Amino acid sequence: MPAEAFPMPLEMDVGAPPNCAICNAPPYPECPCESERLQIAVKQAEQRAMDEKLAQTRDWVIDHARQHILNQFERLTSTRKAAHAAYLNSLPNYSIYMQYSGHPPIHPMYIDNLQRQIAEAHAELKRGIDADWRASVLRYPEVLDYFYGLVELRLPSNRSPRVVEPPFAAAGYQDQGFMAHTMLGKEKKKKRRESMSTPIREEPMQTVMGRVRGTQGPPAAPTPPIGGGYQRPPGMYYG
Ligand SMILES: [Zn+2]
Repeated sequence: MPAEAFPMPLEMDVGAPPNCAICNAPPYPECPCESERLQIAVKQAEQRAMDEKLAQTRDWVIDHARQHILNQFERLTSTRKAAHAAYLNSLPNYSIYMQYSGHPPIHPMYIDNLQRQIAEAHAELKRGIDADWRASVLRYPEVLDYFYGLVELRLPSNRSPRVVEPPFAAAGYQDQGFMAHTMLGKEKKKKRRESMSTPIREEPMQTVMGRVRGTQGPPAAPTPPIGGGYQRPPGMYYG
């Protein structure tokens, strides 16, 4: 059999790290392409995975925080309104004043006096309700913290079969990858994903994933090549 049938294995130094998957530059000195593309891919995957969950979490937190604030305000004002009503009822001539719809058969001096007291009480009630509302609303940061604190983020165990052996690993490294598996029967999500995609996003994704899957040659080693861009942090930490 001619040697051309296996050009790659014969020419490759098996110990050498592969060239850059993006620009094909030799592994040393390291170029930034792969970590840049990985950073983009991570950001996109994070958006696809997390945006909807974050939005749902936010809605849930806001709903409960708002309901709590409103309940709290309701409790404060109902106490205040009860005290206000009790105070009015304690005023001299108040019941006869109400009974005659503001025109009781008593001396006008008493009526003037009573009306002044009622007006003051109403103004006081208004100030009190404003203060209750302000006090309730100003607690939003604390209440939001509380409800966000109830949200649990759960990561699977590192020994979980789903982590150790994801579906595309079980299928060997020649399949279409995770998306092909997860998109089955999930047209709705697919549509959403496509509508969010832009042309500039798709290309680097493919490139990064291509390296992980090892598209060239037989799928002999089911591990991603090391020594290239993946050893470095994705770069998001140094902006
Ligand atoms: Zn490069």
